[in-house]
Amino acid sequence: MARRKRSHGDVGAIVPWSTPIVQTAVYNFPNLGSLDDHYEGRAPGSYVYGRDGLPNSDELAKKVAELEHADRGMACSSGMASLFVAIASSVGKGDHIVASPDLYGGTLLLLGRELPRFGIKTTFSDSTDVSTFENAMKREGAKIVLVETISNPTMKVCDLKELARAAEEAGSLLIVDNTFASPFVIRPLDLGADVVMHSGTKSLGGHHDLTIGLLCGGSKVIERAYQFNIVLGAIPGPFDSWLANRSLLTWKVRTEESCRNAMRLAKYLEGREEVEHVFYPGLESHPQHALAKRIFSDGMYGWMLSFTLKGRLAEADSFVKALKRVTLTPSLGGVGTTISHPGKTSHRRISEAQRKELGITETMIRVSVGIEDYSLTEEDFDRALRASQRRKP
Ligand SMILES: *Cc1c(COP(=O)(O)O)cnc(C)c1O
Repeated sequence: MARRKRSHGDVGAIVPWSTPIVQTAVYNFPNLGSLDDHYEGRAPGSYVYGRDGLPNSDELAKKVAELEHADRGMACSSGMASLFVAIASSVGKGDHIVASPDLYGGTLLLLGRELPRFGIKTTFSDSTDVSTFENAMKREGAKIVLVETISNPTMKVCDLKELARAAEEAGSLLIVDNTFASPFVIRPLDLGADVVMHSGTKSLGGHHDLTIGLLCGGSKVIERAYQFNIVLGAIPGPFDSWLANRSLLTWKVRTEESCRNAMRLAKYLEGREEVEHVFYPGLESHPQHALAKRIFSDGMYGWMLSFTLKGRLAEADSFVKALKRVTLTPSLGGVGTTISHPGKTSHRRISEAQRKELGITETMIRVSVGIEDYSLTEEDFDRALRASQRRKP
């Protein structure tokens, strides 16, 4: 058995299997010299104050960094906090960001509404069109390039390897939001990205009971972000960090099982007459299927899919109402299958014209496929699909 360093909660030579929750905001020091040792870095692994770092969140960051093949990781209080920290620690007034328009709603608000007030502008360009995206990057002298591995809600996949090459040539920092994929589907750093971000609130946590964010990357860029966050203070608490550490133990198997179930559900939906279109990178009908097949892990295309129903809003509403097991839950990545309606949730605040441009219609349903017995999910979808087209005359 590997010997572990003794720490809090150890009873003599007996070491707890699970790391205890270190619920403290500050530490005591035995003498003045020990303060010098801490601040001068002569006491590795020592802690002083909650905002500077906590054992449970550092343990989480280290493990996620290993999974993402990163030199270093850090945890923040939420996915949005981690994204803000990644951006704000590397740009200043007058700097430019080039990003895909297919982004998480909160990210669109950060880039489009909040950052411009600080003199940081964003140009949106379709990241699935590498040459146009690259031109925008070079034209604007982009300091940061931001994309999502699999976009929400139409599940577009971008060529991270090509984007990383273009970002390097343009001298831009490539930040990839890997929330919809996970390191088991793809590792953006291996393809040349500089920073990977996760909303740990989603599949990493996996049980809809914690809020956390992660950044992974090279030591230098993460150290800068870490120092920025010591000033900002967007740190996760010990308990959410502890829960996320526990969730990490099953992240891989949950991801594998939910990817398998998503593939089955996508194929099933594609064969149903009530369904207009299915958006899933694992389907041959998906515009970037060949790319996804090349850059994703073998046979894994994520657990997120969207589809549009025939009809209008009334048909979508009938579908939702007829579900018995699957719930309408505006989040994703949990162990149970959930659905969301992009037009009424994540993309509610944008204009009808913008929604149309992004391919979001009133009958679009987004599904986060879980790990429950697949046949039960299919049964529920079967009932709801039939109900969706059963209009009263
Ligand atoms: C949820 C989500 C975020 C934001 O994460 P929070 O933990 O809610 O702050 C960012 N990006 C994507 C793709 C998400 O799904």
